[in-house]
Amino acid sequence: MTNQFASDIKEITPSAAIDATSYGWRAKCLQRLIRMDLPVPQSWAIGSDAVQSIAAGNGVPAGALSAVFGRDDVLVSVRPSALSPDWGGPGTVLNVGINDAIHTRLAARIGRENADAIYLSFVQSYAIHIARLDPDMFAQHGAGALRDALRCYHDEMEEEFPQDPDRQLAEVLRSMARAWEGPTARLLRQAKGAPQDAPLGLVVQDMALAMGSGISGSGSIQFVDSVTGVPRVTGRFRGQHHGAAIGAGAETLYLTRDSRGPSLEDAAPEIFADLVRFGVAARERLREEMQIEFVVTEGRISIIDAVRVQRSSRASVRIAVALAEDGIIPHSEAVMRVEPRALGDLLHHQVDPNAPRDVLVRGINASPGAATGRIVFTSTKAQAAAARGEACVLVRRETVPEDIRGMHASVAVLTERGGTTSHAAVIARGLGLPCIVGASELVIDTRNRQIRCKGRTFQEGDEVTVDGTSGEALVGAAALLDPALDDSFTRLLHWADEAGGIGVRANADTPEDARTARKFNAQGIGLCRTEHMFFDTDRLPAMREMIFADKPEDRRLSLERILPMQRQDFTALFEIMAGLPVTIRLFDPPLHEFLPHDRDGLHELAESLDLPLSDVTRRVSALSEFNPMLGMRGVRLGITVPEIYDMQARAIFEAAVEASQRGKPVVPEIMIPLVSAKREVELVKNRVDAVAAAVRNERHADFDYRLGVMVETPRAALRAGDIAAHSAFLSFGTNDLTQMTYGLSRDDAGRFMGTYVGQGVYVEDPFHILDQDGVGELLLMGAKRARAQRPDITISVCGEHGGNPESIKFCHQAGFDYVSCSPFRVPVARLAAAQSAI
Ligand code: PEP
Ligand code: MG
Repeated sequence: MTNQFASDIKEITPSAAIDATSYGWRAKCLQRLIRMDLPVPQSWAIGSDAVQSIAAGNGVPAGALSAVFGRDDVLVSVRPSALSPDWGGPGTVLNVGINDAIHTRLAARIGRENADAIYLSFVQSYAIHIARLDPDMFAQHGAGALRDALRCYHDEMEEEFPQDPDRQLAEVLRSMARAWEGPTARLLRQAKGAPQDAPLGLVVQDMALAMGSGISGSGSIQFVDSVTGVPRVTGRFRGQHHGAAIGAGAETLYLTRDSRGPSLEDAAPEIFADLVRFGVAARERLREEMQIEFVVTEGRISIIDAVRVQRSSRASVRIAVALAEDGIIPHSEAVMRVEPRALGDLLHHQVDPNAPRDVLVRGINASPGAATGRIVFTSTKAQAAAARGEACVLVRRETVPEDIRGMHASVAVLTERGGTTSHAAVIARGLGLPCIVGASELVIDTRNRQIRCKGRTFQEGDEVTVDGTSGEALVGAAALLDPALDDSFTRLLHWADEAGGIGVRANADTPEDARTARKFNAQGIGLCRTEHMFFDTDRLPAMREMIFADKPEDRRLSLERILPMQRQDFTALFEIMAGLPVTIRLFDPPLHEFLPHDRDGLHELAESLDLPLSDVTRRVSALSEFNPMLGMRGVRLGITVPEIYDMQARAIFEAAVEASQRGKPVVPEIMIPLVSAKREVELVKNRVDAVAAAVRNERHADFDYRLGVMVETPRAALRAGDIAAHSAFLSFGTNDLTQMTYGLSRDDAGRFMGTYVGQGVYVEDPFHILDQDGVGELLLMGAKRARAQRPDITISVCGEHGGNPESIKFCHQAGFDYVSCSPFRVPVARLAAAQSAI
């Protein structure tokens, strides 16, 4: 054991064999700084095997320590060196090795008060972190504090404060090694992605004294702004001060002269210039924006550590792009360095991370971004507020299709119920509205127009901020940061597209969605949910008329009214997409979703249809179903009331002819929802073909179209081979497919999802991240069977998972052709697609 340890404490020299896997990132980083000839104090790396052995109680062999303390009056620091800087580690311990004798000699060199400060800070940290004594007993500073601390240590431990530097170091190493194994430390690093058995290395380094005559002190410097990523020198210099040791005449300086107070740049321009020079060199050699920790000893700089600059999402994009533009890293590496989710943050306002937060309630972060508005409880109120130019937040138990107008009129949405694919969540993402769903602690009292949460009450009209990125609703108006769609964003996505990867389309229902999709360079529309086109005030009556038509003839007449509206919708989409593929899904929802649910609504409908209220009420209840999600929706409606799909097919073909005459040729893609049997596809296909033939004839125009199927039921996935025979494409609707595979209501799962994920029943919310084991297997099986039947078939995913980076990777690896997601998630998906291809 002794020999193994001896060989595992290694001086960090330019040529030493130090790899990050055995010695951690800090040791490796220090070696790079040493190779650059930066003034790094003598340092040693302790490998993870040795640290593990120390943690297991095998002790630190005294002989090994002679490498460190075989010299006069040496003090050292010990820092953790995990494989990734993000995994943290036990706190740094400074000034190991100090004892009475060294303290006396130090006092002669740098003054009694300074020597006391150094000794005291070590005694305090040793007593608290190594001997585990009560921190309150060691809280004193100033004259006499050192004596008191040493006495207190003696009284508590019944021994003198350890004077042997070897023993001090051995105890510090042991304590740090053990701390890494503690359950809290484990949980914290696992939350940051560390494996269960993540190793720890340690770094021992000679202390550079930050106290003495002339300019002495410690500081840190970085060369970009952590929030914006803009080049800017920031940091602090603390004269006569290092860690907890505060010497005589300690003062803090800004670094640059354009700051609000005295600066190092003014006080010591040469030191400042050297730091900038070191910073530039470190950026180039370490290929990263670094924060450099330094000590100045009587005018001499030591570089003691360097860490990756902490950064916000927007800064991460700007830094990666700037490094690539300066030729320091290739474009592909810049693409790999940005978390796809970070791009989502750039598209919307965000709550300023430095602003105070008064959390009203927590829920599921269903759609990112942040907005402040006044609480309203109904869509009508939201529309009235919007008409007055007032920002409002729509607060509902859950939203229903009729709320779409209210959602349009709101700046954000908060619901008590629902999960990531509930109505509110899907619509809000489509509209780019911040949204929190499943805030189950919220009590909504619409009668008294108030909400209550944890003993607090808020009235309609009170101001709240919805932070859809974190899932927290905040009291009042929080400070917000603007979206950041700047050059760096555009450039990074351009490089991402160059890397190739799976295609990315957008789910777009309106011309506005389509324009957003184009703005974000979507490669087409992968899903247009046509039912969403009818929740408009002008259109709903026409739709209701159609639903109420008893006889086919009446229904035909009302569909004739709807036809021009749909034709206009589709023409607009085709024109905006300018020849890119547009997939239009035929009607999907249960009809009763279009009907009013309260008395006022029923009354209004009776009036507009000129029918007795009792007729209307009877018909509405006749259309209601016990389980509408599994009832007469999707293709079942298309087969039962075929005139609806006929009308839609006609509108699509006529729009394609019109758009093709004015612009690029359009090949529309028609998609059949909720299929579970091959025969359903045959029946719809026959009718759609007939409509196409009729339109060709009437318009004397030739056009192509592609008919495809949405795979949303487990049976469709299992029978994908049969279904593919009649389909040019298959698109997995993973929202419904997840719902049906788990037997889990997408609108109700929010209630228990937190508990389920918390207790590890599900690793993640399967509506949010594709369940690769279960639903994923259906996808793979479906794709394989479909391709065996029809090798040229196009395969895609258009459920909400299409915008989720992990799920995109899965689809890429499975060889799918594209994913389709809400327009505002297109940039995230493009980056994720590139990363899975690089
Ligand atoms: C789906 O089910 O995955 C889908 C895209 O359709 P919708 O969300 O409209 O049910
Ligand atoms: Mg669906």
